[in-house]
Amino acid sequence: MTAPRLDVRLDRIHHNARTLVERLAPRGIAVTGITKATLGSPEVASALVAAGVSALGESRVEGLERLRAAGLGVPLVLVRSPMLSQVERVVAAADVSFNTEPGVLAALAEAARRQGRVHGVVLMVELGDLREGLLPADLEPVARQVAASPHLHLRGIGANLACQSGVVPDDENMAELSTLATGLEASLGIRLATVSGGNSANLAWVSATGAVGRVDDLRLGESILLGTDPLDRLALDGLRTDAFTLVAEVIEAKVKPTQPWGAVGPSAFGAPPRAADRGLAHRAIVALGEQDVDPGDLTPPPGVTVLGASSDHLVLDTGRLVLEPGDEVRFGVGYRALLRAMTSPFVASAYLRPPASATARPHRPEEPLRHLPHGAWRGPLAADR
Ligand SMILES: *Cc1c(COP(=O)(O)O)cnc(C)c1O
Repeated sequence: MTAPRLDVRLDRIHHNARTLVERLAPRGIAVTGITKATLGSPEVASALVAAGVSALGESRVEGLERLRAAGLGVPLVLVRSPMLSQVERVVAAADVSFNTEPGVLAALAEAARRQGRVHGVVLMVELGDLREGLLPADLEPVARQVAASPHLHLRGIGANLACQSGVVPDDENMAELSTLATGLEASLGIRLATVSGGNSANLAWVSATGAVGRVDDLRLGESILLGTDPLDRLALDGLRTDAFTLVAEVIEAKVKPTQPWGAVGPSAFGAPPRAADRGLAHRAIVALGEQDVDPGDLTPPPGVTVLGASSDHLVLDTGRLVLEPGDEVRFGVGYRALLRAMTSPFVASAYLRPPASATARPHRPEEPLRHLPHGAWRGPLAADR
């Protein structure tokens, strides 16, 4: 099979999404599945819809257009403020967009009129993280502007924390969001269909709080795709962290000294810290680099160390493993590595489904994956981790 590639285990993504949907439902919270780290992959989106997400969210119109073409049967949401230059595409591809700018809202209304549609609007409120959001004092006049347009539908309000300044969702800022929602409903005489509390960083707050207030939606990306909490990057209880694996191919494997020789200056991407002299070591180069992935956000197999990376070479100390050219090495990915790998034209995606029989019982790791050609798992690192 081609390398480098991302092996995507759709059953694990489905498991994570289903687990979160079921965990949040008793609190009255629906899940908007955020596919942006996969650039709007229809395969991933289908797994999320099958798991019960109520909507799909993307930050770019290109991703929404992919989802729209796939016909997934749930509302599609643009979770980044539309570019003024893209309002026509946004109205055509998205049922709802997140907004903070009156001028953009006027342009959306005009595009919706031209296209004979009513475009849904969620107004984002600034709660202290200082990324997107209307200041709370400015919310009501903009909400009135939206409510007054026959081509816009004010669906609700939302907030986003923990992305720009690391402000943590807590009872205080979430209560402020609920208060803003009730206040807006009272002064405009309307009922908001949604109060979108935040992203995966809100999950810890939901588990800890006694009252979620008016929050009835969370937009979940990282927790579904990687099973991790963005606040500490640790695994969330009961979720799979291995839905994505980056597979790279060995192009050189040799025993070499652990110390460079010759006068040493700066290296291509900053010199790696000088390692202790351990004599000779098994080293391998895999055909992978900064053009494909964020090398610092990879988890190598046990016993293997990443020594450094440049544009196209990732150098490994393979410990006691002896690799040969052509062997495949599998890496776990963090969010940054996943995003760059998905975006790189050099990295293929392979969507893997377990054998149909495995849906009836827990998947055993040693079960072969149906559509992989025999012999695809080569070398001592080939076992699915
Ligand atoms: C990316 C994004 C999300 C999803 O964030 P995760 O941490 O991946 O769950 C939610 N809301 C907005 C506005 C986003 O941009």
